[in-house]
Amino acid sequence: MDLLKTLVEKGLRRELPTRDEALAVLATSDDDLLDVVAAAGRVRREWFGRRVKLNYLINLKSGLCPEDCSYCSQRLGSTADILKYTWLKPEEASRMAGAGVAGGAKRVCVVASGRGPTDRDVDRISRTIEAIKEQNDGVEVCACLGLLSDGQAERLRSAGADAYNHNLNTSEATYGDITTTHTFADRVDTVQRVRAAGLSACSGLIAGMGESDADLVDVVFSLRELDPDSVPVNFLIPMEGTPLASEWNLTPQRCLRILAMTRFVCPDVEVRLAGGREVHLRTMQPLALHLVNSIFLGDYLTSEGQEGRADLEMIADAGFEVEGADTAALPPHRADGRHGPCGSGAGSCGSGAGACGGAERTGDRADEAVEAAVAEATVAEVAAVVAAADGSGAGTGPAEAPATGATGDPAGARRDLVAVRRRGAGTGLAPNA
Ligand code: SF4
Repeated sequence: MDLLKTLVEKGLRRELPTRDEALAVLATSDDDLLDVVAAAGRVRREWFGRRVKLNYLINLKSGLCPEDCSYCSQRLGSTADILKYTWLKPEEASRMAGAGVAGGAKRVCVVASGRGPTDRDVDRISRTIEAIKEQNDGVEVCACLGLLSDGQAERLRSAGADAYNHNLNTSEATYGDITTTHTFADRVDTVQRVRAAGLSACSGLIAGMGESDADLVDVVFSLRELDPDSVPVNFLIPMEGTPLASEWNLTPQRCLRILAMTRFVCPDVEVRLAGGREVHLRTMQPLALHLVNSIFLGDYLTSEGQEGRADLEMIADAGFEVEGADTAALPPHRADGRHGPCGSGAGSCGSGAGACGGAERTGDRADEAVEAAVAEATVAEVAAVVAAADGSGAGTGPAEAPATGATGDPAGARRDLVAVRRRGAGTGLAPNA
């Protein structure tokens, strides 16, 4: 398929696809799905090999948020039966972090509900970050505390934070449909503050909230313009007690196309498979490893993931390896900050030999690699994963999810897989790692 050959070529050169090309990925048929995965997988392997970075979530403060994000079980007015607790003590957070690190996590993500931290909260989080770093040698710490105000990103960096997460979640055009208590621009502002403070920016999206293909492409292009180092792709977990509880819009095939599109638009970025993978990809999760180079280990903030051990087995069975603490997650040009601004949303990124033209790679090598990019061997490799998977989901779902709104569950929607977290932080039970 010419489209895929073009997208691989651009991905290997870190060039921005056109909006039409990104939309075309989302519009591919199930018959073409393995070719799409193989092509995006070629780009993934170019920048990240077969490594999978593991990240471990710790919900420091759960529930009772004054904001109204419709997808969130911790929102104002949520009746979801989630754990609710106030700040974990630094020692308890560090103990949770230790469990994640022992399970193979390279990064610990400390998250707190709320619009944004007070300066006192930043003091508290700083002590937590210091405790985690002291007791877990070499671990990366990413904070996720909401909207940041003046000086807070700098203070978190001084405390030892490596990264900060703040997702854009959805397109600017639909942001007001999802949340009314803050704006898309507020979120962009925080990501920009994070980058300006020298923290590694992590910002991603949530798919499955009733958005159109154009919305998905818009938010991924907005992310590329902000140029975070990592892009978590969440698939909505429609929790009972939230306004989006009936939004069952995703199929495994749809999820794979979204991940492939994200990889083509953000080729050298840590694309992370985040919340909802168990619920929506189900037995197709191993195929997603050909597209993403990072996942969360174990449980999420308010819902349970599959067993941490199953995550590790899945990675090994699919022929990937857990990324060690001594291996740089990002390609050298990105890790040392020499990649320059990437992506303008207007197709200028990488269009010549400019800042995004591949400082660490030669054009010849890219061209040779393109020739083999969608080769039969790669497709066969991906097909083997499908055969090894539990079978039942492959190619049986509807070709496309509804563009907007939910008019009924797509075939195979699995409400029974949504499980509220009842272990780990905020409980007396061991965490899932
Ligand atoms: S996403 Fe964050 S800000 Fe929004 S309701 Fe949930 S905890 Fe609050």
